[in-house]
Amino acid sequence: MPELTGGCHCGNIAVTVLLTAAPEACRPRTCDCDFCRKHGAAWVSDPQGSLRIRIGVGTEVQGYRQGAAIAEMLLCRRCGVLIAALWQGQRLYGVVNATALAANDRFGATVPVSPKQLSAQEKTSRWQSLWFADVEVSGR
Ligand SMILES: [Zn+2]
Repeated sequence: MPELTGGCHCGNIAVTVLLTAAPEACRPRTCDCDFCRKHGAAWVSDPQGSLRIRIGVGTEVQGYRQGAAIAEMLLCRRCGVLIAALWQGQRLYGVVNATALAANDRFGATVPVSPKQLSAQEKTSRWQSLWFADVEVSGR
C-alpha cells in the first residue's frame, strides 16, 4: 500500500495516509462549495485505505462545521492549513486535503464535484462509500 505523509505548514498537524492504489491513479476531488473553493481544497480518500492524523497541540486545532453542518473541517489554528474533513457516523469517516500531502504533485488531474447539491442523507451515504473508514485522530 502506498503510504503518503504530510501535514499543515507549521507542523502542528501531521497526517499519514495509506492508499490501495498509486497516487497517480487517484484524482483529487475539487468541491465547489464556497468553503472548499476559498481554501483551494482537493479531496482524496480511499474506502479501503486509512487516515491517521496526529495533533501536536490540541488547542491549536480548529474544527469548523461544513456540509449541512454535519461534517467537521479540521484546520490548524496557527498556520491556517485545511487538513481534513471528518464525519462521525457509526464510525469515524474522513477525507484528506491532497494539497497538505507531500506527494500532492503525484496525483492525477483533479475532478470537480458538487456535493452541495445533495441532501444531508445523500451526503452521509456518499461519505460512507467514498471516504476513509479507518480513521484515527490523536492528540486532540
Ligand atoms: Zn499548522
